[in-house]
Amino acid sequence: MTMSREGITISLPGTGVPEVADNLFSSVSHPPWTEPLDWDSCVSQSWERQIPFHSYARLGSTIPDTPASFPQFNNLPTELQDHILSLCTPGTLFQLLHVSSALRPRASKLFWGNPNAYFHVRASWLCSGTFPGETYDDLTLAPHIRNVEIEYHQNDHMKFFPRGRMDGARVERIHNFWKTLETTFPNVRNVILNQAWESNPPVRTSHGPPLDLKMVVESSPPDIHASAFVVEPNPPSTTLITSLSPSSPQRLRRALHTYNSQTTTWQTIHPHPQNRHATVLLPPKTFTGPIGAYQRIRYLIWRRIACYMALLPLAIEAFERQNFPHGDKPAATVPPLTCPITPNCSATFDAPGQWPLHAASAHPGWRPPWTREAVRAALSPALSHAFQERETSLLGDSGAQTVAKRGMVDEWNGKTGLTREEIEAAWSEQGGEGGDAEWRLRVLPDGTGEVNEYSPLWEVYVTDMERGSGRPDPFL
Ligand SMILES: [Zn+2]
Repeated sequence: MTMSREGITISLPGTGVPEVADNLFSSVSHPPWTEPLDWDSCVSQSWERQIPFHSYARLGSTIPDTPASFPQFNNLPTELQDHILSLCTPGTLFQLLHVSSALRPRASKLFWGNPNAYFHVRASWLCSGTFPGETYDDLTLAPHIRNVEIEYHQNDHMKFFPRGRMDGARVERIHNFWKTLETTFPNVRNVILNQAWESNPPVRTSHGPPLDLKMVVESSPPDIHASAFVVEPNPPSTTLITSLSPSSPQRLRRALHTYNSQTTTWQTIHPHPQNRHATVLLPPKTFTGPIGAYQRIRYLIWRRIACYMALLPLAIEAFERQNFPHGDKPAATVPPLTCPITPNCSATFDAPGQWPLHAASAHPGWRPPWTREAVRAALSPALSHAFQERETSLLGDSGAQTVAKRGMVDEWNGKTGLTREEIEAAWSEQGGEGGDAEWRLRVLPDGTGEVNEYSPLWEVYVTDMERGSGRPDPFL
């Protein structure tokens, strides 16, 4: 994906591939709507919704789900108090964590143990030794977390299963992976390995998870309940997509394979896109020092792209809310609600859920910006304006990050500030042994014999600075 200030050109890897329909559908909120549109929501490159921590900690807090004043609460039996707490939204529980020392332990257990919310972490970071300088996440929250979703990319496979290495090395790597996970998240109980791409032979199986993930999950410690959330072929008889879009049968679907270490058996479900677990992003930590300054820019760019991508599911949701404001009957029945994406489409919608499903599955060639623009044109002037404002704001952020990075590139080229040697020394001091524990960097032998080690993040930085040197805009 590339973004520029003149306009945003998006060429998304995987856009329009069949499994996207399932993910895109799941990234749209469905009625009854108790929250306003979440302009801060993000989606992954696979269109999976990722809820920023600050949005999650606000969920439901705008709804008075308990009376404003209820002094009798403290006199209720503990069981009844627990029952009332179990009905509270994450937003209310988060508020209780900060205002009531008496309720804090129980509210904390419920907030962090919500069985429907999994906190996001990358497999690549876990497999590389969890060096704090290489993550944006605020790890001070890690001890509270009970449910972890691990983003498992195609190239993470090699970290578990290096080519040419014997089985013993693989077993050791997988063992170390689980040990690292337990050290980082000491109270973790439930883990989902999220593989949002289709496995190839020879690890693909006709039933159950791919063999590589199967091996990883079956090696999980006994006190961890582990699952693999994968992409698999969709039998024609059980296509997700209804007659609304007969031209776009979905070849792939998502499956959740859960391992029971007591019985050594697997259970498989195909969660409906509307009933998936929520993926919550940890808040970013405080970005300090030269490493933090560079990581802050990378974090903001990543977040801006994720927010920009989320404008598509948000537009789909806004159109659904506009036409089914109460989540049941359409706001207007005559004329019938038609598909706004293209005048050539004959689909009509008379119940909630039909439109998002159609938007996610039909017109795969009409992905952003076309679908988003077409849907926006069908929104009320106020909503359409709100989308325009959000886009402008994201592009404004782009300008601010460009300026910050331009300053960094200029310094690298000796136009301002420190020399390259001084920059490198500052990185070594902050990220090296005995430096800043929050920004400790991974170091590897470089193989030349002259310099004994290098940091992969430093290499990324140098490449980035060199690449940005000859460009008017370092993002291009
Ligand atoms: Zn259509």
